[in-house]
Amino acid sequence: MLIALFADVHSNLEALTAVLEALERHKPDRILFGGDAVGYGPNPNECLDRIFEVSHGMVAGNHDHAAAGLFDPDHFNPFAREAILWTRAVLTPENHRRIASMPLTMSTEGVFVVHASPEAPGDWFYLDAAHAAAHQFEFFTENLCVVGHTHRPAIFAHDGEKVVKGPESMLTFEERFRYIVNVGSVGQPRDGNPDAMYALYETGGKTLSIHRAAYDYRATQEKMRAAHLPSFLIDRLESGT
Ligand code: ZN
Repeated sequence: MLIALFADVHSNLEALTAVLEALERHKPDRILFGGDAVGYGPNPNECLDRIFEVSHGMVAGNHDHAAAGLFDPDHFNPFAREAILWTRAVLTPENHRRIASMPLTMSTEGVFVVHASPEAPGDWFYLDAAHAAAHQFEFFTENLCVVGHTHRPAIFAHDGEKVVKGPESMLTFEERFRYIVNVGSVGQPRDGNPDAMYALYETGGKTLSIHRAAYDYRATQEKMRAAHLPSFLIDRLESGT
C-alpha cells in the first residue's frame, strides 16, 4: 500500500495544488494530513475544502486550533497572530466546525500521526533535535510516527536506547528501529528551499521518501499582498526560510 503524507499547508492553495497534482501521478491508496491547514496564507477556506476532499485521515495543528478559537493566538509571534486573526474572520462557519472536528492524533495502517509531539499533542512542542525526540517514542506504539510543525523535513530513528537524526530524504525501514518522520511543509517550507514538500510511504517495501513540488509562489505572494497579510510572511515564501 502506498500512503501519501503531507502537513503544514498554511492556506497556500498554489502549493497544495502542486502537491495534489503530483499525488495524482503517484496514485496513493491513502492520503493522510498532519495538521495546520490554515494560518499565514491567503486561501484558508479553499485549502480546508481540498484537504477534507482528498484526505483519508487528518489531525489538527496549532494554527487550526487558533483559527477556530481553541488556542490563544497570543502564544504566536505578532506576524502569525495577525494572520490567524485575519483567517478567523474569513473562515466560513462550516470550516470553523470542520476544524473543531479534527482530532489531535490518529492511527491507521501502522502509522501514528500527530502535528507536534506524541507526548503532548495539544502542547505544540517542537521536535527539532535528537535529544528532544528521544523520549517521544514512549508515547506511541506504532513503528512509524509522522509529524509536521517545524516545517523542516527530518527522520529520527530509535533503536530502543538512543535516537539518530538523519538528514536523508529516503528511508528504508530497519527492523531494529522505530521512526519519527517530519514530512516538512507544503505551504511554508523552512529548510531553505521554497518548493512544497510531501512524503510517500510504501508499506510493503517499507520505504519512505520525501519529495518536492515546485509551485508559483509569486501568485501566492500576490494574493497575500492583496489581503494585507504581513510582508514578513510574504517574503519568506520565496526563500523557503
Ligand atoms: Zn505549521
